[in-house]
Amino acid sequence: MDIVRTVQREYGAVSSEAMDTIARSVGCKRVEVESCATFYAFLSTEKKGEVVVRLCNDIVDQMSGLAEVQQAFEQALGISAGQTSADGAFSLELVPCIGLCDQAPAALINDVPVTNLDADKARKLVAELKGGADPQALIKRLGDGNNASDLVHSMVENNIRRTGPLVFAPVEPGKAIANALALTPQEVIRDAKASRLRGRGGAGFPTGMKWDFTRNAAGPVKTVICNADEGEPGTFKDRVILTERADLVFEGMTVAGYAIGATQGILYLRGEYAYLEEFLNHVLAKRREAGLLGRSIKAHEGFDFDIRIQMGAGAYVCGEETALISSAEGLRGDPKNRPPFPAQKGYLGTPTTVNNVETFCAIARVIEEGAGWFNQIGTEGSPGSKLLSISGDCSRPGVYEVEFGLTVNQMLQMVGASDTQAVLMGGPSGQIIDPTKFDRRIEYDDLATGGAIVIFDTSRNMLAVAEYYMEFFCEESCGYCTPCRAGNELLRRKLQEILAGRGQSEDVDYLTRLGTTIKESSRCGLGQTSPNPVLTTIENFPAIYQTALKPQTSGLLNSFDLSAATGPAAAIAGHKSVHVE
Ligand code: SF4
Repeated sequence: MDIVRTVQREYGAVSSEAMDTIARSVGCKRVEVESCATFYAFLSTEKKGEVVVRLCNDIVDQMSGLAEVQQAFEQALGISAGQTSADGAFSLELVPCIGLCDQAPAALINDVPVTNLDADKARKLVAELKGGADPQALIKRLGDGNNASDLVHSMVENNIRRTGPLVFAPVEPGKAIANALALTPQEVIRDAKASRLRGRGGAGFPTGMKWDFTRNAAGPVKTVICNADEGEPGTFKDRVILTERADLVFEGMTVAGYAIGATQGILYLRGEYAYLEEFLNHVLAKRREAGLLGRSIKAHEGFDFDIRIQMGAGAYVCGEETALISSAEGLRGDPKNRPPFPAQKGYLGTPTTVNNVETFCAIARVIEEGAGWFNQIGTEGSPGSKLLSISGDCSRPGVYEVEFGLTVNQMLQMVGASDTQAVLMGGPSGQIIDPTKFDRRIEYDDLATGGAIVIFDTSRNMLAVAEYYMEFFCEESCGYCTPCRAGNELLRRKLQEILAGRGQSEDVDYLTRLGTTIKESSRCGLGQTSPNPVLTTIENFPAIYQTALKPQTSGLLNSFDLSAATGPAAAIAGHKSVHVE
């Protein structure tokens, strides 16, 4: 991965010759290099422009004026989205969520994020780039917190709107490690279990139990991986944690290393956050200097543990833990069959614990302050706090640390939302709920969420929203299994027919049966959740389907266009078909 990423950056493509050279140099098969180079959005076998403008086309960007921004970029660059200019200077691409929904429309220019765009800003950026400016020189105003540091130097804003007792509380580097080292690894796992901490990535698996499985798995080498590949449209909280609480993340990973008996840790960082890589490496270097990483950590003989950063290259499916492991191994980000589970056989065959960025912060705080303290926060069934990334139709988008148990209504009030028609809870793989559910609580026993929340007011067409999310899943499916590869495409086409006014009453049943089949027969979490935008809008917004669908009257499916179907034959025969109703 590192080699192909470097080749892409230096030469603008991973060419056929480069693949041969890489395969020879690292002693693998050429097809392995090719499968990698053709899998990831940020890699290409065809030469890209010197400057690549990746314009985020997430639904929130669309709601915030993407169309005008895209048009301005296209006119100024003289190319359409998906093209490279004839002189090889520029490429313009539309990409799914880049983790900046709270400051949309946004784009990455090479690795440099530019935010809060409008048509005028887009034209000015292009003028500067055409005048020879380096993308980094486009940054005229720095964001808050560590975004303004020399090592990040970014215009991105943290937009931390509410702090809480866990993640955004003051951090004392090394305290959780010191507390852990005063215990045996088994006692650390005991405390993790007693805290009842569940994974913050969305699946909610008990962290202590996962660590126990990994510790007890056979193998001389064990691995801790931090999943920093948040790609769920609407999520951006991990970006803020990595910017402001990197020490806490690494502290949690180190505690995990001690508990499970690991020597190696990997932070898998999504390609969209490459602008944070240098800063994160600096934090790691400082921790090594302070004796918090490396050999004999905190002078504890025999506890050797270090962390490296593995960059991703633009693939949503790599947020799935086995796909992430494949990617960290330098392969396509293909999900793996389970069993064996990563705790038994994960990264390069080693027993591996994969936890989310926020989970590592929470566990560090548990070991710092104790499981009893942690259990007093939140609700009986969901102890602790949760970071929410909130965007869409509200006046205060950003990151909120809230205790579990907050109702959706309270959340909407907190973020300044009004006239709300729908809330996407947990990104498109979660659920889209209607106002009758707004008194439900954000917690594992009620509305579980990985943290991506998008708000839609009554001006939005929820069918079009569902169709957009299906387009996203079609794009991001790895293609391995048919239900996900073909089924999501069929769902999307049916929604397009309905949006075009060619749906009929039976289509709801078709969508429900197909969506359920995809969920039940797909291999990994992506396919098992991808029909949710369709299924949850059918469940919670039946009226929008009833309004859009018409009864079948002519004996032909409403979606069947007789003229289009007979047109080619009529052209060959040289005469017109006459249709008699
Ligand atoms: Fe790939 Fe989709 Fe199958 Fe997962 S469910 S393995 S993403 S095709």
